[in-house]
Amino acid sequence: MKTPFVTKEKIEEITQQIPTPFNIYDEKGIRENARAVNKAFAWNKGFKEYFAVKANPNPFILKILQEENCGVDCASYVELALSNELGFKGNDIMFSSNDTPASEFKYADDLGVIVNLDDFTHIDFFEKTVGHFPKRMCCRFNPGGVYELSNGIMDNPGDSKYGMTKEQIFKAYQILRDKGVEEFGIHAFLVSNTVTNDYYPTLAKTLFELIVELKEETGISISFVNLSGGVGIAYRPDQTPNDIAAIGAGVHKVFDEVLVPAGLGDVAIFTEMGRFMMGPYGGLVTKAIHEKHIYKEYIGVDACAVDLMRPAVYGSYHHVTVLGKEDAPADHVYDITGSLCENCDKFAVDRQLPKIDMGDYIFIHDTGAHGYSMGYNYNGKLKSAEVLLKEDGSFKLIRRPETIKDYLSTFDNLGIVDNLL
Ligand SMILES: *Cc1c(COP(=O)(O)O)cnc(C)c1O
Repeated sequence: MKTPFVTKEKIEEITQQIPTPFNIYDEKGIRENARAVNKAFAWNKGFKEYFAVKANPNPFILKILQEENCGVDCASYVELALSNELGFKGNDIMFSSNDTPASEFKYADDLGVIVNLDDFTHIDFFEKTVGHFPKRMCCRFNPGGVYELSNGIMDNPGDSKYGMTKEQIFKAYQILRDKGVEEFGIHAFLVSNTVTNDYYPTLAKTLFELIVELKEETGISISFVNLSGGVGIAYRPDQTPNDIAAIGAGVHKVFDEVLVPAGLGDVAIFTEMGRFMMGPYGGLVTKAIHEKHIYKEYIGVDACAVDLMRPAVYGSYHHVTVLGKEDAPADHVYDITGSLCENCDKFAVDRQLPKIDMGDYIFIHDTGAHGYSMGYNYNGKLKSAEVLLKEDGSFKLIRRPETIKDYLSTFDNLGIVDNLL
């Protein structure tokens, strides 16, 4: 059973000031989880989690993670600028971009962050753009083929646009060394949203064996291994959540088996988790405003896919709780819909739920990562607010809802905004 981290009574208190829909985040959960991550990898001297900013770029959230000793993983100019402004510096920022514009390599180099090259041709591109190489560089690996874990085929890296082949990455490190780079990292992101404690240890083994081979063939020592993201969460109530302590211990075991005997026991482990750091600690709160009885039973809510795109885009499951009816029998079947003129705008399809009455608050679970941040303005829908539920139980508006003025703000000097407002 999945229970919301907030009660109906609290939501009723919040909605007196902040109308639905809004995303709410659980500061206590975020902090406890970040501490568990750091504890799970405390055996590794250089361990650092670089939170994937794209999962949730709210500055208040990034500040909380910064206080828990996390760095950030950025992939664009705006993410870099925002992180820099928040006080993340040099070592605290990984720049794991792809298809990177020249100006962004230049900016990343100016900030002195850790640049992760997605492709072999980016060596040349980087040199032409920036004019020199920093002392430390990372390269992204793609083993190709399909990637299997103990429970079967997980994903198909051979079909993904990211990273370099083995041959390319070996050559890349040698070229970079010849150009004066002294410190090297390796990065790979092979599978998304894995709900198994095996993913990181299996990936770590692949990367550890690769860097031992690299050292034997070229004499180059890798100083950090970035396991990137992909550690998933239990979106469905019947799934068993990942155990980060077991994951950390699993990586520790292969570290001792593969790297320590090869004289590489000083290698630092980095992670770039987004979903695992934030997913469960966010919820979308929305209100039932319509009921419709045609060939199916529909409940229309005041949020739409603009607030949470995952169900519309990927058909993703997000658990739904009708607040205050947690213990009521789930004896109705509904589609929960948003208001976009798109039939895919459904937060839940054929979902068994308690009877929903107009005005009920509906909590859509696990929207803390890749939720608000993926949103857009289709149908002229304005983005909703973000609220932080603080550790002491009080709440704070950490992003106000958009207004029509925000929506029109890119029509500079066209006169249209003043006429409309
Ligand atoms: C999206 C992304 C992540 C985070 O992925 P999660 O599945 O949210 O953990 C990390 N690194 C890179 C390079 C990414 O693109």
